[in-house]
Amino acid sequence: MKIPPLVKSGPSLTDAERTRYSRQIVIPQVSELGQERLRNSKVLCIGAGGLGSPALLYLAAAGIGSIGIVDFDSIDETNLHRQILYTQAEIGERKVDIAKKKILDLNPTTLVTIHDSRIDNVNALEILANYDIIIDATDNFATRYLVNDAAVLLNKPYVWGSVNRFDGQAAIFWNTYGPCYRCVHPTPPPPGSVQNCAEAGVLGVLCASIASMQVNEVIKAITGIGELQIGKIMVYDALDSQYSKINIKKDSNCAICSQNAPQQKLLDDYESFCGINISDEISAKDLRKKFADNEEFVLIDVREPEEFEKSRIPGSTLIPKGFFLDHSALSALPLDKEIILHCRSGVRSAECLEIIQGAGFKNSRHLTGGILAWEKL
Ligand SMILES: [Zn+2]
Repeated sequence: MKIPPLVKSGPSLTDAERTRYSRQIVIPQVSELGQERLRNSKVLCIGAGGLGSPALLYLAAAGIGSIGIVDFDSIDETNLHRQILYTQAEIGERKVDIAKKKILDLNPTTLVTIHDSRIDNVNALEILANYDIIIDATDNFATRYLVNDAAVLLNKPYVWGSVNRFDGQAAIFWNTYGPCYRCVHPTPPPPGSVQNCAEAGVLGVLCASIASMQVNEVIKAITGIGELQIGKIMVYDALDSQYSKINIKKDSNCAICSQNAPQQKLLDDYESFCGINISDEISAKDLRKKFADNEEFVLIDVREPEEFEKSRIPGSTLIPKGFFLDHSALSALPLDKEIILHCRSGVRSAECLEIIQGAGFKNSRHLTGGILAWEKL
């Protein structure tokens, strides 16, 4: 689909910009006007992980003027085979800080805004409103539905991507011109029915292929060049080295983007919409109370040793996430006591919780917001 450029051109490029982007400007369809549009654009990337790493680097390299990054996790060793923004020495650092540094190393003129928080129904509209186009580089359904709905309410294009083992998909959803994510998937899959990349695994290089498809759509939308892949899901099979497309249609009964849609605002709770059981979580306040009441439980820190050295919750035992992924941690877990897992922000502990609950340790929860929430009390 041919769409007018999303972003205005002008003022003229500087000589430094003409030099820097010369190999891109020389393409007639891009030209100086296209480069001006890229410089004037604001792109939000939600997630600075497997898809976010290559996406952010290519956005910055292409000359996107303003880049926002949403992420609240820190770097761990299991990230490094695919999250190419980060290195061994940066394990334990906040992803947003390192991502910003790497972007500025690559292109110092980029304006980088950090959003170091979980995107939720309270802040989503406010954050998304500042950007022209949104890239979803996360791998959880609650965020996906939330960001889709926020993008629809703001009439902004939403570029989605997903990777699993050797298979990847990407699409640009934009209710102004075509379907939204919920037109295609009106309801989330049952929890646990779709494995995330911690469980199923992902070939690192596949992330680059899918992120590249996402950034390509972003550049086309901003500059108005080529055919925007509205109404398609782009599919890549890395084992077969094959690209294909699936046609998708706007659902005239879509809950969020149809005419007279029943839903005119964000849902109150996307996690329960996705069937995520909040009784699997414990708040920092309730955890403090458990300590104060001398309750019997085991608190396990699933972060990396470097993070544990810097700060820890008194009474916690360190078992890094990798030992849960290969199930070697299971033999160290008590069968007769409640198990509470925590990490920095709650992402890694949720992954580990799923693994131990799957292995039969049902009397288990994880700390909402991780040690960050604990330290804020
Ligand atoms: Zn829709």
